[in-house]
Amino acid sequence: MTKKYDAIIIGAGVIGSPIAYELCKMGYKTLNVDKLPDAGEGSTAGSCAIVRAHYSTEDGVALAYEGFKYWLDWENYLDNVKDEKGLAKYMNTGSLLIKSQGHKWQNVKKHYDSVGVQYKELTNDEIMEMIPVMDLHEFWPVRRPEDSNFWDEPTKMLEGGLYCPEGGYVNDPALSAHNIMRAAEAKGGEFMFNAEVVKIRASEGKVQGITLADGTEIDAPVVVNAGGPHSFKINQMAPGVWEGCNIKTKALRHEVMYCPSPEGYDYLNDGYHHSDGDIGRYTRPEAGNLFLVGSEDPECDPQQWVDPDEFYAGKGGPGRDNQLTEAQWKAQCYRLGRRIPSLEVPNQPKGVVDLYDCSDDWIPIYDKSDLGGFYMAVGTSGNQYKNAPVVGRLMAELIDAVEKGLDHDAEPYQFTMKYIGRKLDLGFFSRKREINYDSSFSVNG
Ligand SMILES: Cc1cc2nc3c(=O)[nH]c(=O)nc-3n(C[C@H](O)[C@H](O)[C@H](O)COP(=O)(O)OP(=O)(O)OC[C@H]3O[C@@H](n4cnc5c(N)ncnc54)[C@H](O)[C@@H]3O)c2cc1C
Repeated sequence: MTKKYDAIIIGAGVIGSPIAYELCKMGYKTLNVDKLPDAGEGSTAGSCAIVRAHYSTEDGVALAYEGFKYWLDWENYLDNVKDEKGLAKYMNTGSLLIKSQGHKWQNVKKHYDSVGVQYKELTNDEIMEMIPVMDLHEFWPVRRPEDSNFWDEPTKMLEGGLYCPEGGYVNDPALSAHNIMRAAEAKGGEFMFNAEVVKIRASEGKVQGITLADGTEIDAPVVVNAGGPHSFKINQMAPGVWEGCNIKTKALRHEVMYCPSPEGYDYLNDGYHHSDGDIGRYTRPEAGNLFLVGSEDPECDPQQWVDPDEFYAGKGGPGRDNQLTEAQWKAQCYRLGRRIPSLEVPNQPKGVVDLYDCSDDWIPIYDKSDLGGFYMAVGTSGNQYKNAPVVGRLMAELIDAVEKGLDHDAEPYQFTMKYIGRKLDLGFFSRKREINYDSSFSVNG
C-alpha cells in the first residue's frame, strides 16, 4: 500500500525537524525521512551551535536575532514536550565581535542599530578586563603558519570590539534536533529513519512523492528538501529543480579544533564567544575548559569541496571522515596562540570535522522551486543552526501560502517575525536571486 502524507520532509536535522513541527501545528500530516538512525545525526551533530547576531546583511542580522529569542524560550517553543534524552541547553555567554579589517564591522553595527540588537562598543582596555589572557595587537592579514611572515612582531593595536550580551551556544546540537522531533511527534508528525530517498517522482510539473532505496513509494503533494550537505544531490533528483536554481549548493569540509584553556583562565565558565576576523577564527567555550576554534574561511585557507556520500561513508571513523589535517590544525591553533599567547597547543590534534551545505553566496535558499510542490531549505552555509526554529516557521508559512495559490516568485511572501516584530521579505532567500555581494562569503553569512 502506498502511504500518503500532506508533506514529506527529506532530512531530520535541525532544519528539517522544525519545518515538520510548524507544518503539523498548521494541520499538515507530515513525514520526515532520513537515511541516518536518528534526528540530528547528520551535519547538525558536528555543528558548533553558536548563536550570535552578527551577519553582513540587515536581513541576516534580523533573522539571527529572531532565532536567538527561540533558544531563550526553548521549553515554551517545544510546547513543554518531554524528551527521554533530556533537553538541549542554551548557554548565554555573550558574544564579542573584534573590530578588524577581517570583518565589515561598521556594517554590522549599522544593522544592529536598525534591527535593535543590544550591544556595547568596547575599548581594548575593557576587552582586557573581560578576557585578561588576550593580546590585542593587530596581526592582519590572516596568514598560515608556513608563511615566513606568520611570526612577525605586530606593531599596531586593534580598535576594540562590539559586544552583545545576548549570544552564546547550544550545548548539544543533535539533541536539540531530537527535541524538536519529539515536539513534532506530539503534534502528529511521523519520522522514518534508516530510509534513503533515491528518487523524487513528478508528473505534469507537480511533485508526486518519493521512492526509497528499498523501492517503497510514499506520496505527498508537498516535498521539502532539507537534506543538508546532500541538498544538491536531492535537487538533482527532482525534475527541473537544479536547473531552475540561479544559486547552487555544494558540500564544503570544515574542521573545528579543541585547545585547552590557559592555566588559571576558566574559559568554560567565564568566557565569551569571540569572532576575530583579524586572525580568521571564531571561538566558544567547550566542556572540559576547552577553546573550540573554527576558521572564518580566510582567503589563504584552502577550500575542500567534497562528495558528501564519500565523506559520510566514514573513511576515518564511524559515520564520518573525521581526520583533522595537521596543517589546518596548526593554522587554527597557532593563530589563536597569537591572540592568546599563554595558550598551550597540545601535540595531539583533537576536534570535529563535518560538512557545510554551502551556497554560492553563503546565504541560504529558503524557497519554492520550479517543480510544483517541491520546496528547499538548503544552502545553510555553516551559519544557520541558530536560525533553525525560525526557519521552520518561515518555511511552513511559505509552503502554506504557495499551496494556497501565492505566486511567491512574482510577489514574495512577507514573513512576520513574532518576537522582534519585523517583516522579512522572503525574496531575499530566493533561488532566482543574483549572487548577493553584500555577503562576507564566509561562515559569517
Ligand atoms: C562544523 C560545523 C560548524 C557549524 N557551526 C555553526 C554555528 O556555530 N552556528 C550556526 O548557526 N551554524 C553552524 N553550522 C551550520 C549548521 O550546523 C547547519 O546549517 C545545520 O546543522 C544544517 O542542518 P540541516 O538539517 O540542514 O542538515 P543535516 O543536519 O545534515 O540534516 C540533513 C539530513 O538529511 C539526511 N539526508 C540527506 N540525503 C538524504 C537522502 N537521500 N535520503 C534520506 N535522508 C537524507 C541526512 O542523513 C541528514 O540527517 C555549522 C556546521 C558545521 C558543519
